[in-house]
Amino acid sequence: MFQAHLVNEPFEDPGLYVELLHRKDALLFDMGDIRNLPNRNILKIRHVFVSHTHMDHFVGFDHLLRVVLGRDKELDLYGPPGFIRNVENRIASYTWNLVENYTNSLVITVTELDRSQTVSARFALQNSFRPEMLPRGDFTGKLVEGSHYSVSCVILDHKIPSLAFSLQERQRVNIRKNALERMGLPVGPWLTQLKDAILKGEPDDSPVQVWWREGGMRVPGKILPLGLLKRKAVSIAEGCKIAYIADSVFSPENAEKIVGIASAADHLFIEACFLGEDSIRARDKYHLTARQAGELARRAGVKRVTPFHFSPKYQGRGELLIREVMEAFNS
Ligand SMILES: [Zn+2]
Repeated sequence: MFQAHLVNEPFEDPGLYVELLHRKDALLFDMGDIRNLPNRNILKIRHVFVSHTHMDHFVGFDHLLRVVLGRDKELDLYGPPGFIRNVENRIASYTWNLVENYTNSLVITVTELDRSQTVSARFALQNSFRPEMLPRGDFTGKLVEGSHYSVSCVILDHKIPSLAFSLQERQRVNIRKNALERMGLPVGPWLTQLKDAILKGEPDDSPVQVWWREGGMRVPGKILPLGLLKRKAVSIAEGCKIAYIADSVFSPENAEKIVGIASAADHLFIEACFLGEDSIRARDKYHLTARQAGELARRAGVKRVTPFHFSPKYQGRGELLIREVMEAFNS
């Protein structure tokens, strides 16, 4: 289950923080000023996705690095072409002569898109953050494919490449406690193994060992076929989908890609920089208007839309941008 919120108010820097409930795992989409995020949240972040490296989307890198420094941590950063050099230059602007004495292991792996390939480099604290290039990979549209979620990406036009992302949760397996009671089965760690077996798509005739602990000892119970437990003891829900669309011009190519990646999302976060009446200005600056954002959300068939990245020229009039998005979304 995801819990997603914008790090800042919509007039401030972009940043979407997504936490996986009950797991020490979080993702960050864009990192403008992220000082509003408590350190305990920053420390949960495992993956960071940066749409492009205009300052308002990337300035938070220093704060992130500062918070994780001195911790055992792995961070994976993803960004547009040139991103490795951007990160390398930011790191290189500090002096790292004493970090070899650190006993903790902080490793930052940076991946950038290069047309149909991904290029990655590793920056390890214990190596004074000297970049080590990793083998190239094929880019198939997915940046992350984990056991609980996957992250896809398309490249939009913002006069420079600007990445848009969707985060898809895998199916959710919920245990039906009443059914367990009726079947005379205890709760216990075996249920986690049951969930994993279902998520892995193991065959219905796979045996599942029921077990629990008593006085620190493992007590085995019945062995039941996976298919029976799937039918009677669990309910399977589709995972939820979040899409994040940052800076991009309203062009037919961008619109098609945005509608595609945001398709049927439960929650779309989309930039809405200008009012529709300023659409020429929006086009010249390679941004969306609120009306265009709402229209794209409607065409993508999303359940819920949250606009962000409002131009400061509308300061104090944010409700106009929100209303315009919602009117186009609901029309
Ligand atoms: Zn921006």
